[in-house]
Amino acid sequence: MTQKRAITIARGDGIGPEIMDATLRILDHAGAMIEPEFIDIGEKVYLQGNTSGIPDEAWESLRRTKIFFKGPITTPQGGGYKSLNVTIRKTLGLYANVRPNVSYAPFVQTKHPDMNMVIIRENEEDLYAGIEHQQTPEVVQCLKIITRPGTEKIVRYAFEYARKNNRKKVTCLTKDNIMKLTDGLFHKVFREVATEYPDLETEHWIIDIGMAKIADTPQDFDVIVIPNLYGDIASDVAAQVTGSVGLAGSANIGDQVAMFEAIHGSAPDIAGRGIANPSGLIHGAIMMLVHIGQPEVAAKIHNAWLKTIEDQVFTGDIAKGRFAVGTKEFADAVIERL
Ligand code: NAD
Repeated sequence: MTQKRAITIARGDGIGPEIMDATLRILDHAGAMIEPEFIDIGEKVYLQGNTSGIPDEAWESLRRTKIFFKGPITTPQGGGYKSLNVTIRKTLGLYANVRPNVSYAPFVQTKHPDMNMVIIRENEEDLYAGIEHQQTPEVVQCLKIITRPGTEKIVRYAFEYARKNNRKKVTCLTKDNIMKLTDGLFHKVFREVATEYPDLETEHWIIDIGMAKIADTPQDFDVIVIPNLYGDIASDVAAQVTGSVGLAGSANIGDQVAMFEAIHGSAPDIAGRGIANPSGLIHGAIMMLVHIGQPEVAAKIHNAWLKTIEDQVFTGDIAKGRFAVGTKEFADAVIERL
């Protein structure tokens, strides 16, 4: 029998605990061989006076288990403490953020039934490096960092991912007509690395028209490799185009550690009401199970989830006027179909 794999789990803020509990029940019923170690991070920890939002024992658990399953966490806007998500990704070297976006038509309503793309977002550099200064009382500055080693790593990851997953095309999106040095370097490295993969089709679009195409003809994309900030925005647009931001999961991959989550945030507007869609976190869990060598359990959960959607069991975000169930009932429906 497979030995249980220790994983670190944070329930998160807002809707985090609701969708995490629903997802963990599914994992348990599906027979996932995991040994959870729960840690507290985010709002609760800040309120206790820890300004980093993550206590030492949480880092210790993460460095030991090397697998992090995380609920969304709240980050204040326009001030307050620094994004814990960004800190975690940078500290643990989680350089590749893999975000698949798939349409589930005709069950989940979408204008784009043939969409099946994977956004591979650089996860440590760019404007998210967090280097911001107050120059004068009226001028602030943020530094955009793009490095050759960082770009080579993410671009090569995207091409390797495309090959392994039988994808045909890799698209790069940048704004190198304006940011000639930073985005220019990202595009240049993309062109160089592409020569090592003659079996794959490649293309580049300037980000503005690239985003417009994601909204209009998403079926034309396969794998997208993209700098950090644009990737964050593009993946929310792509998920919403499939039907809801509540659908997509996300893997954050490093050389040593990997973190799995939903793409969406803590949704404070619906927190505590038991109506959030747990599907994004369920998809994060499916990617985690494949990563830790339990693909059969991953497939079992994925099939049960698909059957649930086919049987028209929907949470409010994808019901679109049809009957909607709550988070717990949706998880019960998946469990019944395992
Ligand atoms: P959000 O993704 O939390 O919510 C956007 C909208 O989508 C809201 O109307 C929300 O109700 C809805 N939504 C999101 N997830 C849903 C789900 N599972 N089911 C049903 N509806 C869902 O984005 P936001 O409101 O901009 O951000 C809220 C907080 O989350 C902020 O503090 C932000 O920093 C944080 N955030 C965290 C992460 C993360 O932890 N990885 C990611 C994005 C945002």
